[in-house]
Amino acid sequence: VHQQIDIQNGPVVHLLFDPETANEANWELLKTDYLQRYFDFMAAHFGRYPYPQFSIIQGGDGGMEYPMCTMILGGGDKFEGFTGLFVHEATHNWYYGVLATNEAAHPWMDEGFTSYAEEECMNVLFEHNVENPHLRAYRSYVYLDTSGLREPLSTPADHFNYNMVYGINSYSAGALFLNQLEYIIGEEAFARGMKRYWNAWQFKHPTPYDFLRIMERESDLELDWYLSYYKDQVKSIDYSISEVSPVMNGTTVLFERKGKFPMPLDIEVV
Ligand SMILES: [Zn+2]
Repeated sequence: VHQQIDIQNGPVVHLLFDPETANEANWELLKTDYLQRYFDFMAAHFGRYPYPQFSIIQGGDGGMEYPMCTMILGGGDKFEGFTGLFVHEATHNWYYGVLATNEAAHPWMDEGFTSYAEEECMNVLFEHNVENPHLRAYRSYVYLDTSGLREPLSTPADHFNYNMVYGINSYSAGALFLNQLEYIIGEEAFARGMKRYWNAWQFKHPTPYDFLRIMERESDLELDWYLSYYKDQVKSIDYSISEVSPVMNGTTVLFERKGKFPMPLDIEVV
């Protein structure tokens, strides 16, 4: 079947699927208001989808992004998984499509930024409302960091020693590049920066330095150290509390930087 849904302040979405082999309930549910809320969320946080149409096509193997459309396998998946796949593949249109970063040279700016936006969006679409929707990415990152196999994020996509290292670097570490940056410069400057990045660099193939300059301007902070440590080196962000001892009028807490990647620390005493 071929169905069309008019998104308010957004594109006409075309759904193309075979009711006999697709999980039809998923496709029907997606149309209710998930599509509208998806395009609204993306416009509010990352930029407005600029084309008049978008197609979701049953087919391919798993999910794959294409300009103005995505192929997804329609059957068998739970609705949230099905929607997450759509959100991920569609969101590529913002990063590899419209901003158009170089996927071979900087895979983390495509898969990572897409994964970051996907996790933020799914947290709202499915009303999980967790404080940090990127915890799975953190777990993958820690797994890679402790495996001894890490390679710099700046490694071109087809030059990694292991596919697993490419995957965790590009998807998880790429998403956490944004989440850690948000931690450093604060949510408001970060949110402004993501929109400014979209407005300033769409259709212009930005490099990592172009992105960084936007964030430096929005935050009024120098951030070259962060990009260098994060992208070009394999040092770890790892802090611990090494000592807690009572003193006359309170307690002394000693922090220890165990990894070589320096980060500002926000300390909450409860
Ligand atoms: Zn992807």
